[in-house]
Amino acid sequence: MINENGSLSIHSENIFPIIKKWLYSDHDIFVRELISNACDAITKLKKLDIMGEYTIPDNTHFKVEVKLNENNKTIQIIDNGLGMTADEIKQYINQIAFSGAEDFLNKYKDKANQEQIIGHFGLGFYSAFMVADTVTIDTLSYVDGATPVKWECDGGTEFTLSEGTRTERGTTITLHIGDEGKEFLREYPLKSTIEKYCSFMPYDIFFINENEEETKKETDTKEETEEPQPLNDTNPLWLKHPNDCTEEEYKAFYRKVFMDFKEPLFWIHLNMDYPFNLKGILFFPKINNEYENMEGRIKLFNNQVFVADNIKEVIPEFLLLLKGVIDCPDLPLNVSRSFLQNDGFVRKISDYITKKVADKLTGLYKTENESFIKYWDDIHPFVKFGSLKDDKFYSKVKDILIYKSIYGEYISIKDYIEKNKEKNKDKVFYVTDEQQQSQYIELFKQNEMDAIILSHSIDQPFISHIESQEKDVKFARIDSDLSDSLKEDSNEEELKPATETLENLFRKALANENLKVKVESLKNIDLSSMIILSEESRRMQEMSKMYGFAGL
Ligand code: ADP
Ligand code: MG
Repeated sequence: MINENGSLSIHSENIFPIIKKWLYSDHDIFVRELISNACDAITKLKKLDIMGEYTIPDNTHFKVEVKLNENNKTIQIIDNGLGMTADEIKQYINQIAFSGAEDFLNKYKDKANQEQIIGHFGLGFYSAFMVADTVTIDTLSYVDGATPVKWECDGGTEFTLSEGTRTERGTTITLHIGDEGKEFLREYPLKSTIEKYCSFMPYDIFFINENEEETKKETDTKEETEEPQPLNDTNPLWLKHPNDCTEEEYKAFYRKVFMDFKEPLFWIHLNMDYPFNLKGILFFPKINNEYENMEGRIKLFNNQVFVADNIKEVIPEFLLLLKGVIDCPDLPLNVSRSFLQNDGFVRKISDYITKKVADKLTGLYKTENESFIKYWDDIHPFVKFGSLKDDKFYSKVKDILIYKSIYGEYISIKDYIEKNKEKNKDKVFYVTDEQQQSQYIELFKQNEMDAIILSHSIDQPFISHIESQEKDVKFARIDSDLSDSLKEDSNEEELKPATETLENLFRKALANENLKVKVESLKNIDLSSMIILSEESRRMQEMSKMYGFAGL
């Protein structure tokens, strides 16, 4: 009988290659992890101060510095946070996957507001080895009488721990960059990686190019040196209360974050604390023309730390046409995407965002109808795409869907059907190309009939969708089924010769023996003739074209 309980042991020889290869797909993630650790260290110190376990000296300017030294092949991340003692290094750094952040939160669970601490898994620090051959930690703890400690490791399983050199509270991480990370030894890629991940982190981040500083010193120019500017905005707009944000602030934020100098049409400020924490701003961009790439950009943040762009698993696909930021500290973002896809919590977030967007649109329709109409040409592809992709969204917005008529007015389907009941027999006539179909439009206008314009590429799938959802709505292109009110009663016998001649002609011309032609006479019309192709035949043709079959 074998009967034994025990704990599995993880050997770092095994886990290092796994971390390096699999944990993070992007090399540049080390920037995010180390700078967020630095910010965490500052947040923790501030919490200790609030809880009365430490007093932050006056005039403390909390900051993180990133120093690049191309000559020495090093990158340093320096903070003035709480630092570590030798024991803490042993516990938090040497024990891989023992997260100090978790430990800290557990220890101060009720007193500290845990939302603001970024770390979770206790693996972030080791992302340093994706770019560095050797990593050094030089740190001095906030604890009274602490001695500085230095830890060094070359990515193997051995480390050294000795007395350090720091004289001020905080931590310096030094990366001795190896071959795998050499792209980061230049100012531009390193700086733009910091900007990518850290633009909204909560403490000032400064970039220092040490080699440049040296050259400056050598040439000894006594120019007025400008006050160095942090790379980040520590108070992102989305964290402010919507009532405290001005229109100009929203616009400026949009310009800066999305580099889009066309003003957004309007925006939605998401601000939710319960049952989950979610903040963000979604902008409806102005689309210049139909051919412009409609793809927007939604940046996902976790506690002010940029995580990814356009995560389909969290944000409903149709919302990716918008531009915006979403900050959700509760999202388990280091786990795989397939997990996110199936996670109930993630679905709730996604539903919440969808609902907010629908609410905003219906609100605009009701309270600012004029603006709504003004925006419609820009937003309708988005609203239609959303309706196609998400039934819940469709049911919320279906009553505010409007259509531009050939008279330039905007009208809902319901009103259109009601207004044109007599002449149209409940059909909704539409135009796909105002120029090509101009003679039909003319004909309609002469007869005081109306049609709506559906000329966007989303419109074909969209009307099929509406037909499948709303039983009493049937669409017909303006050049397909003619309304009865345009037809003149005529004798079939009289039209027979014309029918036969035309049928033969078209059968030959189109090489189709089964083609059927029907001739009808119209009233009120000053055209010699016009061709009409039934709605079904045309849709069939379009379908087969789409799927690459030969024409009918
Ligand atoms: P996590 O951040 O998820 O806890 P990390 O691997 O990023 O995991 O870091 C492990 C632990 O090491 C942290 O929780 C923290 O206790 C400690 N640590 C890392 N960097 C610093 C730093 N700059 N200052 C103080 N402590 C740090
Ligand atoms: Mg971390």
